[in-house]
Amino acid sequence: MLLAGVVTRLWLATRQTRHVARHRNTVPPEFADRIGETSHRRAADYTLARIRFDVVSLLFDSAVLVGLTLLGGLQALSELASAVASSDFVRQLLLVGMVAALLALLDLPFTLWRQFVLESRFGFNRMTLRLFASDAAKGVVLAVVLGLPLLSALLWLMAEAGRYWWLWGWGLWVVFNVCVMLLFPTVIAPMFNKFTPLADQSLAERIHALARRTGFSLNGLFVMDGSKRSAHGNAYFTGLGKNKRIVFFDTLLSRLAPEEIEAVLAHELGHFKHRHITKRLVFAFAVSLAFFALLGWLAQQTWFYTGLGVMPALDGRNDALALILFFLVTPVFTFPFTPVASWYSRKHEFEADRYASEQTDPANLISALVKLYDDNAATLTPDPVHSAFYDSHPPATLRIGRLRAAAS
Ligand SMILES: [Zn+2]
Repeated sequence: MLLAGVVTRLWLATRQTRHVARHRNTVPPEFADRIGETSHRRAADYTLARIRFDVVSLLFDSAVLVGLTLLGGLQALSELASAVASSDFVRQLLLVGMVAALLALLDLPFTLWRQFVLESRFGFNRMTLRLFASDAAKGVVLAVVLGLPLLSALLWLMAEAGRYWWLWGWGLWVVFNVCVMLLFPTVIAPMFNKFTPLADQSLAERIHALARRTGFSLNGLFVMDGSKRSAHGNAYFTGLGKNKRIVFFDTLLSRLAPEEIEAVLAHELGHFKHRHITKRLVFAFAVSLAFFALLGWLAQQTWFYTGLGVMPALDGRNDALALILFFLVTPVFTFPFTPVASWYSRKHEFEADRYASEQTDPANLISALVKLYDDNAATLTPDPVHSAFYDSHPPATLRIGRLRAAAS
């Protein structure tokens, strides 16, 4: 499965490279009046550079996965944890901690390279090494504060809750995720960014008018200092229930005209009106129930451990091992479903676009999108197969085409 996945990804990367390179010098006619040739070439070069980076990290990650499982890496760490730890419970926590630390360390050069070489080369990086280090430190603190209690509770359930521990484990997972979503806008996100209420009164009035028109109860309009990390612009909804707020990146506000911002927001409201967020949440929880049930069964099977290069302990619990193996190996088996998830996401994007074009002038969303493609150096000429497989958003030509049809 791993090999088939790697070959598929390499094949898709090759297709995308060829397609983007072939169209590097010609702006698609639909965009010729708004996007210059220099911009178009820059987008192509950025796309190509990112594919090369993705291929290298794909090969590296696959090697790490094989090293940890079939080549005995996890077994060695497990023996190390047994030698050091005093109790069975500490041994298991230690093992998860070591694996998490190892994976984070191996990933570090890639993250640094992406931010300070790749993104810098195209003028997107605004981060200093100092900010990077402080983000990383906060990330570690968050992982320990949130992750350690969750992991301890899960290990305890696996040991004590009997045959149906996975049902309890799933319940814990759902509660944990809902809590994180509730805490995110007011506690977690402000650890990394400053959020200030939108100061531009005429823009705020325009947005409130849109919210009233569409019957959306809004609990706040905030601007986030996204520019301290990256030049990429964005806008998002956050929070649950009555706690909903809209967050604009300052980079987005500085580039779009008020009527374009309204159109982007109308698109976001479209996601909300069509209940995309709720649908996704319900779907994610349903899938995680199936995964917990599967884990409950796999954890009992000796071949699950031995087949992946580890010897389960005969005199202690193997719950941490089961969790780690499951976490490492699941993506290999879910990869074939990527196109289904991408298709589902693109369907939602079309629905949100349609909603936006009913609520505001489609011309505004079109011009906002063109600016965003241009600013973010997003390619206008993706390979159709690559796009169908991975893209969460419809390709530019198709998306703008539909909006133009709605406008006329
Ligand atoms: Zn969207």
